[in-house]
Amino acid sequence: MEELSRQHWLHDLLSSVEVGIVVLDRDFKVEVWNQFMENHSNLRPSQIVGKSLFQHFPEIEQDWLMLKAEPVFNLKSPVFLIWEQRPYLFKFGCNRPITSELDVMYQNVTLFPLSSLTGNVERMCMLVYDVTDQASSRLNIEGLNNQLTEMSRVDGLTQLYNRRYWQERFQSLYRLAKRRESANIAVMLDIDHFKAVNDNYGHQAGDKVIQTLAQIIKKQVRETDLAGRYGGEEFAIILADASGDGAMQVAERIRKAAEATEVTHDGQSIRFTVSLGLAEFSSAFANEMQWLDIADQALYEAKENGRNQAILRTR
Ligand code: GH3
Ligand code: MG
Ligand code: MG
Repeated sequence: MEELSRQHWLHDLLSSVEVGIVVLDRDFKVEVWNQFMENHSNLRPSQIVGKSLFQHFPEIEQDWLMLKAEPVFNLKSPVFLIWEQRPYLFKFGCNRPITSELDVMYQNVTLFPLSSLTGNVERMCMLVYDVTDQASSRLNIEGLNNQLTEMSRVDGLTQLYNRRYWQERFQSLYRLAKRRESANIAVMLDIDHFKAVNDNYGHQAGDKVIQTLAQIIKKQVRETDLAGRYGGEEFAIILADASGDGAMQVAERIRKAAEATEVTHDGQSIRFTVSLGLAEFSSAFANEMQWLDIADQALYEAKENGRNQAILRTR
């Protein structure tokens, strides 16, 4: 009688905890399946007890879990499965659709040995913790951090890299070029007579021109190139794996596209041109700024020469 009453409150205990409790034998046959597991899986104990766990949960990789559980049976040591490595073991829905963007229940799982009277480990217990809230807030913070990082790298007006981040990337690109002796071209670009655009049409119109030019640049460069807004109406680009000829073709395409573009602002049509200075990489440079300086000199020459042109400095 006492044993029966004991079983009764033990059952209540298993039912009321907000943790999944599963007992498995060495063949992963289910012996205990508590209320939490029933609620989330919609499987009553009578449907799963005595059956292999894998039969009802094809999402659980059998080989993987058996390998993970080996220390439980062989070394009598607990094993922890954490959501950061695998979001879940059991694919349960998540019942907080409003507070969370996650639609599955994230889980931490503990596996530990259950010894029999003789000291042999014939069974293991599996505790399944719902850590969706924890995971969701962590993932939200990470998402927010990524957003902030992205924002700190990108110029708001043009969505190109800002000067600080461009410089950072330029430096590592320079080091790589030095090690591999790869062919790269630095380009400095500046809008011609831009003060006149501001003076004639206003600062906002000027901004629109800068934005339009940024679009042109984005269209002409490749994914592997590095384009940034270097200053007000100055842009810097590193063309990766480019010969002098190839780079001049890109520069000419940008120049011609700018020349052909019409920006309209307040019903007025604005035309603009750009000048570009190009410099081939040389392993003789002492640092990346020497390289950029040559591109700047070429740009100055293009301006002196009458603007609306590209000039290449070779080694
Ligand atoms: P040049 O052909 O020699 O380059 O002549 P420029 O008039 O373009 O001369 P410069 O490049 O020195 O002029 C830059 C001007 O760009 C000065 C500044 O008022 C304007 N400017 C800088 N940043 C911005 C910006 O974000 N928006 C607008 N609208 N104008 C800017
Ligand atoms: Mg300028
Ligand atoms: Mg200018």
